[in-house]
Amino acid sequence: MIVIRSQAEMRQWSREQRARGKTVGLVPTMGALHAGHASLIEASVSRDDTTVVSIFVNPAQFAPHEDYDSYPRTFQSDCETVESLGGAAVYAPTAKAMYGRDYATYIEVERLQEGLCGGTRPHFFRGVATVVTKLFNSVLPDRAYFGQKDGQQVAVIRRMVRDLDFGIEIVALPTVREKDGLALSSRNEYLSPSERARALCISRALFAARDMLEAGERDAGRIVSEVKNVMKDVEIDYAAIVDADELTPVERIEGRVMLAVAAQIGNTRLIDNIQFDPQEARASTQERARSSGA
Ligand code: AMP
Repeated sequence: MIVIRSQAEMRQWSREQRARGKTVGLVPTMGALHAGHASLIEASVSRDDTTVVSIFVNPAQFAPHEDYDSYPRTFQSDCETVESLGGAAVYAPTAKAMYGRDYATYIEVERLQEGLCGGTRPHFFRGVATVVTKLFNSVLPDRAYFGQKDGQQVAVIRRMVRDLDFGIEIVALPTVREKDGLALSSRNEYLSPSERARALCISRALFAARDMLEAGERDAGRIVSEVKNVMKDVEIDYAAIVDADELTPVERIEGRVMLAVAAQIGNTRLIDNIQFDPQEARASTQERARSSGA
């Protein structure tokens, strides 16, 4: 496994892989790798001939009051993780190399970047879309792997890739959770034991909502009220049911939706979501009925 620091070296390395007929998979991360990241790396290793894991804490997606300086940085052990999972390269450019003093160009994905996390973090998706574009331009991947845990991010990146004709396949993978339901996040390590216990209401609320959806509830307002009720002991930033691709609010659930929540627990902001598709749910109910001979 090699560590690549510069954009030029990264592009050169990828061009060499591609010249040998190898596909390149990219897993963009900010490091502090956990089992959620590992699931993306494993998916890329199993599908692509070479896997590049980028590790870059992107200053463009943090506001001045946010946790850029304190964000966990565990570069050595991250490299060991990537190597043990079969990754071919870690791409870790410096912030200075990515954003020079006269840096001026940003990508904006209109509308999709505005709601949900965009409400409290207006700078965020501009920073994400910009850095992902820059990573794509240096790594030249065939496929890029993202976690559904950051559901709005997946929708924003998919739209950007489509609108700007990147020709890169975006693969979204399910959220990896602790046994008790808490979605893995590099920020979980900020939580004190009592905050962690309180954070569990986030996944509990989503699972309660899933039960309602599976039982046939289609009124978004009723589901969101139940979610807010289960999350009453934490400071809710938002809880909303939106169209899974457009991210526009829905009142009745007729197509694929995302129920997304964000909450502040002490100084830590956590996000989580589930997706639900009533058509798929109906098909799997029918399938179960058929296989049980009903
Ligand atoms: P981050 O390092 O937080 O920027 O995350 C890098 C990638 O890992 C993003 O595509 C995330 O969506 C994904 N990711 C983070 N947490 C999880 C998780 N619990 N399960 C699956 N993917 C995750």
